[in-house]
Amino acid sequence: MSSYTIALLDGDGIGPEIMTEAEKVLRLAASRNGIRLELEHGAFGAGAWFSHGDSFPQATRELCDRADAILKGPIGLDHEQTEKIPVDMRPERGALLPLRRRFDTFANFRPVRLAGSLTHFSPLKPEIIAGGIDIMIIRELVGGLYFGAKESGRNAAGKRYVNESLEYDEDQIERIARVAFETARGRKKLLHNIHKSNVLKSSVLWNEVLGEVGQEFPEVEVRHILVDAAATYLCLDPGQFDVMVMENMFGDILSDQAGGILGSLGLMPSACLGPDKAYYEPSHGSAPDIAGKDIANPYSMIGSVAMLLDMSLELKEEAGHVWKAMQSVFDQGFTTPDLTRPGSDSRTINTRSFGDLVAGNYAAAPVSAG
Ligand code: NAD
Repeated sequence: MSSYTIALLDGDGIGPEIMTEAEKVLRLAASRNGIRLELEHGAFGAGAWFSHGDSFPQATRELCDRADAILKGPIGLDHEQTEKIPVDMRPERGALLPLRRRFDTFANFRPVRLAGSLTHFSPLKPEIIAGGIDIMIIRELVGGLYFGAKESGRNAAGKRYVNESLEYDEDQIERIARVAFETARGRKKLLHNIHKSNVLKSSVLWNEVLGEVGQEFPEVEVRHILVDAAATYLCLDPGQFDVMVMENMFGDILSDQAGGILGSLGLMPSACLGPDKAYYEPSHGSAPDIAGKDIANPYSMIGSVAMLLDMSLELKEEAGHVWKAMQSVFDQGFTTPDLTRPGSDSRTINTRSFGDLVAGNYAAAPVSAG
């Protein structure tokens, strides 16, 4: 019997609520496939700072080190609560970036998908997204501005100043470019490279290295688009995109915009892959405005489980069943509050009911052979 340890980092805000639903699906996957799963929870994020004095406590680091994969809920609190935490221990700087750095999770996969039957969730006009949306955003996750050197203080003129640097070397660009080309080769053989080379020298190097890697993938067509134009096209004509690759900050911003065109950030799971370990998380934050109300959409958290099954446990068919089980909940006429639209005859259900329905649909799927 295969045996895996999965670290569960519930996080803050809606994190524990949506993690509970993800855990149901994960346990079901284990029992369907005769796998032994050790699911161990670890403190992580703002709550961990308040309870342990550390947003990424040593015990959680050790848990992540020995785990085969990590499933992470969103972290962070509202502005007022966040202000109570010392700047360098705030959830992103004190926990999230150190997690990414620790496991060098450079390749972030963010599927942006909306079935043709669900286009009414999107704020875009039906004629713009008639066939649905299906884009894979690939974001470089451990370089660029978020990881560059930072300094602040007073300059020679006595003015407060800040200086943050955006740094990439060719190896960092090459490895994410290779992931992007391989992904594009397995899909429509079309890769949109998102950059800002008219202003940023980092983008000039990015494009140069991406072009060199592209020589190895002659079957993949590359289209170069400036990031600001890409933001516009995501709204006007998302159907032109299949795989998009971009540096860290561009990916942070464009993937939230992609959540917007789906109709909710609650529909955005993600996988963050490093050379030896991967972690999986919703692309959205901890949604403090709706925390504790049992109204969060657990789709992106459960979708992150599907990605974990696929990419870390090599249970591709099972992952497919989980995606279908989630889609079926919508097809059965249910929605979560974030997706409820005026005039729609869908029935609005809470977080727990959505998780239960997904689990029920998944349990009914045929067990994968072998
Ligand atoms: P957010 O993504 O938490 O919320 C933005 C909006 O989307 C809110 O209206 C929220 O209610 C809604 N939303 C998000 N996820 C939802 C879901 N699953 N179901 C229904 N509605 C959902 O962004 P924010 O408000 O800017 O940030 C809140 C906190 O999250 C901050 O502390 C921020 O730093 C943190 N954050 C963490 C991560 C992460 O853990 N990777 C990512 C982004 C933001």
